[in-house]
Amino acid sequence: MTKRALITGITGQDGAYLAQHLLGQGYEVHGAVRRSSHGGVADHRLVWLGVLEDVVLHDANLVDMASLARLIDQVKPDEFYNLAAQSFVATSWQQPILTTQVTALGVTHALEALRLIKPDTRFYQASSSEMYGLIQQDMQSEKTPFYPRSPYAVAKLYGHWITVNYRESFGMHASSGILFNHESPLRGREFVTRKVTDGVARIKLGMTNELRLGNIDAKRDWGHARDYVKAMWLMLQQDQADDYVVATGRTTTVRDMCRIACEHAGIDMDQHIVIDPELFRPAEVDILLGDAGKAREKLGWEAETSLEDMICEMVDADMRRLQDPIAYIPRSPAL
Ligand code: NDP
Ligand code: GDP
Repeated sequence: MTKRALITGITGQDGAYLAQHLLGQGYEVHGAVRRSSHGGVADHRLVWLGVLEDVVLHDANLVDMASLARLIDQVKPDEFYNLAAQSFVATSWQQPILTTQVTALGVTHALEALRLIKPDTRFYQASSSEMYGLIQQDMQSEKTPFYPRSPYAVAKLYGHWITVNYRESFGMHASSGILFNHESPLRGREFVTRKVTDGVARIKLGMTNELRLGNIDAKRDWGHARDYVKAMWLMLQQDQADDYVVATGRTTTVRDMCRIACEHAGIDMDQHIVIDPELFRPAEVDILLGDAGKAREKLGWEAETSLEDMICEMVDADMRRLQDPIAYIPRSPAL
């Protein structure tokens, strides 16, 4: 029997890689897409991975529970991956209420719609290492207390606990993946890795001369999205639902990540990086470092891609995109 998966946030970085992974496993893949006047452009990541024609897209929004309920009733998914979110920390201070509606309450909309219509569906919630915020332990595991530092992180904490609560209250197969930062050529350009690789490629091609950044002393545990979506899938293949940290176990400053990108492109970092105080955040998460021991032991999962390989892949992809923009204009049919 072919398994059916429904992914919210399928047009995002993780949604695209997860769709690709599930198709490779023989799944029928459905995705919820929110209506936008940029229809077509929204599909660019699925186009990049060459999977747009193989997935079924539906109109639904996480803040509209009725749209989720209708979709669940129509698709009757075996697995539901809730990846949709207002996912950018900096924006969460500009739009804290929207962030709460989508990133927090949206999780309850999805869980409640499943509980009412198809409670045996296995559920994955995209939780975040940002929930650790002001870290309470040097290495963060499933047992580390949380201390969120942004409206985004507070919203994710709600999403995490409501997932645990539906598992414990209603016996639903609901798992929460506490994923540390993961990047790829499909990362949004507002996030620091992609901002750096895109900026470095532009400098290399003579399109600009500077790259403006905020706190480059911040440290993150960065992995590759392609590796991390495999952990999401593995969580839903377990007999028991549970919570797992997914991380590499290595932390690096933004500064050193920049250095990798600059060295790969052959440009002198000190000539081009400008520190812009406007880009500092009202409250910072200084350092994150994950302990993925449980995922290794129970799921057999391990990060496969080094930071160096990932950043070089991203710089190369940005060079290609900037040199031949016409080739990368998404051309997708209307929904
Ligand atoms: P992206 O920002 O790339 O993707 C977010 C997705 O959510 C997009 O498809 C977006 O649609 C969709 N979305 C936003 N608002 C709504 C809404 N109201 N209704 C329906 N869909 C909506 O994020 P990532 O792929 O990087 O991350 C996936 C998930 O994992 C997110 O929940 C994120 O917070 C979480 N996470 C990510 C980490 C990372 O390092 N990448 C780390 C830990 C957690 P559209 O294309 O229209 O904008
Ligand atoms: P986050 O961990 O989800 O907030 O991922 P980001 O990629 O947005 O940010 C990672 C870290 O890089 C944070 O500590 C930011 O403060 C820091 N940073 C420094 N300069 C920048 C910048 O110009 N843009 C972004 N997005 N982050 C920056």
